[in-house]
Amino acid sequence: MPTSPFHVLIIGAGTGGLCLAQGLKRAGVSVAVYERDRTWRDGLQGYRVGIDADGKRALKANLSPELYETFVATCAQRPRYGNQMTKDKKVLFSAGPELLSEEDRPSEDELDESVSRMTLRQVLLTGVEDVVTFDKTFSHYEQHADGTVTAYFADGTSATGDLLIGADGANSRVRGQYLPHARLVDTGLVGITGKTPLTDETRGLLPQRMIEGVSMVHGDKGSMCIFHVMQFKWDTRGELKDGIGGTDADAIRNWPGLLYDNSRDYIMWGFAAADTWLPESVLRMRGQEVQQVVLDLTRNWHPDLRRIFALGDPSSSFPLAIRTSEPIDPWPTTNVSLIGDAIHTMTPGRGVGANTALRDARLLTRLLVQAARGEAPLLDAVHRYETTMTGYAWDAVIKSRAQMDGHSIMHKGGLGGSLARAGMRTAMRVMDHLPPVKRRIAAAESSFRGAGRDEEG
Ligand SMILES: Cc1cc2nc3c(=O)[nH]c(=O)nc-3n(C[C@H](O)[C@H](O)[C@H](O)COP(=O)(O)OP(=O)(O)OC[C@H]3O[C@@H](n4cnc5c(N)ncnc54)[C@H](O)[C@@H]3O)c2cc1C
Repeated sequence: MPTSPFHVLIIGAGTGGLCLAQGLKRAGVSVAVYERDRTWRDGLQGYRVGIDADGKRALKANLSPELYETFVATCAQRPRYGNQMTKDKKVLFSAGPELLSEEDRPSEDELDESVSRMTLRQVLLTGVEDVVTFDKTFSHYEQHADGTVTAYFADGTSATGDLLIGADGANSRVRGQYLPHARLVDTGLVGITGKTPLTDETRGLLPQRMIEGVSMVHGDKGSMCIFHVMQFKWDTRGELKDGIGGTDADAIRNWPGLLYDNSRDYIMWGFAAADTWLPESVLRMRGQEVQQVVLDLTRNWHPDLRRIFALGDPSSSFPLAIRTSEPIDPWPTTNVSLIGDAIHTMTPGRGVGANTALRDARLLTRLLVQAARGEAPLLDAVHRYETTMTGYAWDAVIKSRAQMDGHSIMHKGGLGGSLARAGMRTAMRVMDHLPPVKRRIAAAESSFRGAGRDEEG
């Protein structure tokens, strides 16, 4: 394609926006991304994001094969175990690969990966640096009679194109102007997240299954904390760890920029509790102050777990009101559209928000490339994207919300909440002692991942 028949403006250099830019640029479609962060290292907290089969499929489709290899090589060691634990560090339920028969084992492409957000952003920026402008805060847009659209920025500048894509996350200004009736609603839960360096001391605080797994620790009044241990393939000097070879080693050696703080091994923790149990000002707190809230609420937790909170890097800790989009009716297609959290913010429990943003990017890339080849009018491509995207995205929003509502009873006070919590713990302990039940859960989990979700081709 010697010259692009249209120019795409993307607002937001996050997961979805950058993956879309990668796919469009590789296919020769003219694209420009505008990001409000001052540099690529601003704005993002260094915690992990889980990439599932949908996310991997999208990255494989939109990135060059070498860059996809770099993505895989820069992921952390895959979690082997899924653990449910008590606040005393006792196992309620634990499932690992030993439970799966050969035929139930997911393929390489279906296995979940864990990656640091900052590393993922850095990978996604590789090769598209020339089309991404930082320090550009989008303020509003104007659609013109000739079919073009202009984005205006807070610094008084503007950019005009044929299509404007809002990839500007949960508080999207593009959505605010385009679909003002699409709102986010509070779930009443607050998350507090942080990361603690993985050192000899912190490693010694966790059982091996937690070191090699993803663990949910259940506390009082429905509070809970997820722990992910992120161990990378290189050490703090950028040297490959023992046993790392093949394409991983090549991809790591050939990729500049490994030695950022975010690539050191760490324990990422995400504590969540109902807002009624938290200080009113929690959402305004940062660093040590918000870390102290977690320590105050976990006074009767095992001292080893509390030590991990206490050793957390204060600059990595922040609170977050957990909100969700609510599905809206279809809207008329124009030359403004939305991807990712900008249109479908979801509660984080199922870990599919970023993966759905990547899925959008893959689908929209494919349809826009067809339009650029003259196989469909531009607005038909956008319409097809919106129709398909809303099908899977509203489903993901609803399922994520239902999962969170299922947990919500645990956060309630009174007898109802106590009984639900006691029931859940007993059920997990019983299941942990029933190998056939554990095997069924592990197999269902592995076949759920990535299965039958390729309807957009
Ligand atoms: C604690 C937590 C854990 C999570 N874990 C997972 C997980 O394991 N797996 C998963 O799939 N999802 C996870 N998610 C969800 C995931 O983070 C989001 O769904 C995903 O980042 C959405 O990508 P996006 O590209 O739509 O938006 P973002 O990645 O948020 O990117 C939006 C970009 O737009 C920029 N921007 C915003 N406003 C403007 C403006 N006015 N002008 C210019 N630029 C602007 C922002 O700076 C940002 O760079 C998690 C979320 C949370 C809160």
